[in-house]
Amino acid sequence: MYSHYISSPGNTARILNKYGIKLKKRLGQNFLIDTNSAKKIVRCAGVSSEDIILEIGSGIGSLTEIMLREAKKVVCVEIDELLVRAFREIFSENLKEGAEGPELELIQADALELNYADLISKYGINKIVSNLPYSIAAKLLLKILVEARSLEKLFFTIQKDIAERLVALPGDKNYSSYTVKSSFLADFKFCFQIPRNCFIPKPFVDSEVIEVQRNENELLKGPDFDIKDFFDFINACFSHRRKKLVNSLSQSGSRYCDKAELVIELLSGINKNRDVRAEELTLDDYIYLYKELNT
Ligand code: SAM
Repeated sequence: MYSHYISSPGNTARILNKYGIKLKKRLGQNFLIDTNSAKKIVRCAGVSSEDIILEIGSGIGSLTEIMLREAKKVVCVEIDELLVRAFREIFSENLKEGAEGPELELIQADALELNYADLISKYGINKIVSNLPYSIAAKLLLKILVEARSLEKLFFTIQKDIAERLVALPGDKNYSSYTVKSSFLADFKFCFQIPRNCFIPKPFVDSEVIEVQRNENELLKGPDFDIKDFFDFINACFSHRRKKLVNSLSQSGSRYCDKAELVIELLSGINKNRDVRAEELTLDDYIYLYKELNT
């Protein structure tokens, strides 16, 4: 283990150099090189000795190292072969089997291919703390929200443009089907910002540390509720973004294609004009429409 923090710019550079690591944009490899920010993430997530943390995209362990000092166990996922090799060497002591199993696990896998419900139950994970790869952050976050439903505590570092999509309001330029789907599962609290120059290489935008606050909608508790079917409906509504909602649905190729008259009637029931566009409706409006169209 390195005697100073991995996240110091000098140590990060030394590790990258030692293992011949060239950071890949394709894999969203922007490493945190600010130890204060890394510590602040861990503090903000309230990591304690009770916690079994999942970290997706551990890189060379800049955040892992700090979490290990506080947590009971950290389970890391990393896709990049070379980073996995470096990580295994840097953390060789922590990866060793102890009386209660190792305090650190590393799974080499594509985070988009994992099943988070299985992973959580296998390791007893109770928190996720991750600096997500930009390239897949939006997709991965939604997948985790759907699959890791038993988890109350999730903390993600994501680039600001993605964070803004999560909290956009109807009518905002960032409001999209993604906003509706993610806000169906959770609320998002912005904890603090990390300036872009705290990462190497420096991304084009600053990052935001967000806390996910579960907001399980009543619909989800219904025994027959199919979240994929609900998301398909939202996708159909937004399928032609600039068109009126009624026209989008008619041309979506979904089972709602021939429901224009009913949709117009339902819209009028919630005081919405038949010309309304998808980006003008709230989550509650969508829940109402979906329920009514499927009863
Ligand atoms: N945790 C480190 C930090 O905070 O400096 C690295 C974070 S970096 C933003 C994202 C990490 O995710 C990279 O190490 C990258 O190789 C990894 N990654 C990218 N795509 C991945 C995927 N599909 N599955 C697992 N890890 C992935």
